[in-house]
Amino acid sequence: MVIGIWVLGTQLSQQQAALQSCQSEKAIVPVIMIESWELVTQRPYHQQKLVLIWSAMRHFAKTLQQAGWTVSYQIAHDFRTPLQNWVHDNQITELRVMRPSDRAFISWINQLDLSCEISLLPNNHFLWSTEEFQNWANPRKRILMEDFYRQGRKRFNVLMEANKPVGGNWNFDQENRKPPNQKLTPPSPLKFSPDEITQTVIKEVKSLPFNTYGNIEPFSWGVTREQAQQVLSHFISNNLANFGTYQDAMVSDQTTLWHSLLSPYLNLGLLHPWEVISAVEQAYWEQNFPLNSVEGIIRQILGWREFLNGIYHWVDLDYDQSNWFNHTYPLPDFFWDSNQTDLNCLKEVLKQIEETGYAHHIQRLMILSNFALIVGISPQQLKEWFHATFIDAYEWVMVTNVIGMGQFADGGVFASKPYVASANYINKMSNYCQNCRYNPRKRSQEEACPFNFFYWDFLARHRDQLKSLGRMNLVLGNLRKIDSEELAEMQNLAVEWRNQHESKLS
Ligand code: FAD
Ligand code: SF4
Repeated sequence: MVIGIWVLGTQLSQQQAALQSCQSEKAIVPVIMIESWELVTQRPYHQQKLVLIWSAMRHFAKTLQQAGWTVSYQIAHDFRTPLQNWVHDNQITELRVMRPSDRAFISWINQLDLSCEISLLPNNHFLWSTEEFQNWANPRKRILMEDFYRQGRKRFNVLMEANKPVGGNWNFDQENRKPPNQKLTPPSPLKFSPDEITQTVIKEVKSLPFNTYGNIEPFSWGVTREQAQQVLSHFISNNLANFGTYQDAMVSDQTTLWHSLLSPYLNLGLLHPWEVISAVEQAYWEQNFPLNSVEGIIRQILGWREFLNGIYHWVDLDYDQSNWFNHTYPLPDFFWDSNQTDLNCLKEVLKQIEETGYAHHIQRLMILSNFALIVGISPQQLKEWFHATFIDAYEWVMVTNVIGMGQFADGGVFASKPYVASANYINKMSNYCQNCRYNPRKRSQEEACPFNFFYWDFLARHRDQLKSLGRMNLVLGNLRKIDSEELAEMQNLAVEWRNQHESKLS
């Protein structure tokens, strides 16, 4: 039997399952890595995302070679041709691949026409395997992140003392919603200068013959495991202490605040979630960091990240087509060009994504996704947009975050109510409204903020469906208190806005 290993672009760890299964035979087991246009022509990806993935792959191939593996690194239009030739030339009888995170890609690999057996090994880049999550979820009547997270804390013994959560509480979210009322001075993010390999990729991406998105330079993401580890250390030394407190704040020109910027590296396999959780927990025990911050970041990684990956593999295959509210309005053009909108919060966040491919969680959820939901934009078009434009976006994390959490298009498989808010929330949690031509306090007259009239229009349009969700009763009660003439005025503004923007669509 001749084993060959195919390392995918999001599996860049020497400990990944396929490489690990042949550690002692690395001198004789060939490895292939393929940089292909097949996937990247599907949507207009952010140029920095292409640079990040291809540069990280090229660096990882070198790392493997230095570690004693024989690596064939191929640049091709598709995956199938180089694979078939390589299998043939090396007389491979078993192709080993760690199971990808993307379900469609798993099916695609399974039906590949190769002259050898294909073995998919369980993905070890998450703490919960697909089967373990299913065993947890299947017998349950309710699928709540909080229940899953507590189970994870106990199972992996994280922030626990004698079977109880450290500090007596599982959750410190109440302490983690401070608005940016005073001047904040967050640390600068760690930036890396492009080395020779990255510079070559930048040149290549600049001359790609298909549509891409965003600015390619300045490119300052890390592209190696060592750099990803430096980002983690930098986070612990400079950001962790305040991570929790201002987790939900949004500030112009301070795009990253105390966030970790770890998602691009976790999602490529350059960091393992366990090493992040262990390092943060160790810092807590040894350096006494504030518990709200420590628990806050651990909840994101041990809780949300693992939970949403579990959900992605647990739901039906057509989950990504869900559209509970039947929203079909097309994605406005300004999502692709921040200059085309005069809503300052959207403009600032979209500009930041053009420049870096990054926005933090509340910008994604309460600005971009909230806006799409209250306007009634197609969840599938929004998902495609997120997938193309974000530095850390992959199918597993898109489907659950955009379709499920952001758009509530699944009707509440794991969330108990949609995340919708008016300008009130944005004005409280950010300083965007200070430089906006709209007035966050107006909802129907001149200068009325679109977040306001769309918010009430959304509640009115879907009031019957929303009634079935107990947690919406309070806001539906507020809706009933609005004078019918004013509600009609807001609904007219919403219709006018939609018509105006639809007519501009290219
Ligand atoms: P931090 O705020 O520092 O959080 C630490 C880590 O927690 C993140 O690096 C991430 O690995 C993990 N995490 C936190 N929340 C989630 C979550 N909901 N799902 C998965 N991981 C989570 N995350 C992605 O990795 N890729 C995406 O494409 C993506 N798209 C999103 C789209 C929408 C509409 C929403 C609401 C969320 C999305 N998220 C996505 C989740 C989250 O917003 C990002 O993981 C986070 O903002 C990344 O920045 P950070 O590393 O600075 O995060
Ligand atoms: Fe956004 Fe409205 Fe505030 Fe302007 S006023 S920044 S559109 S929430």
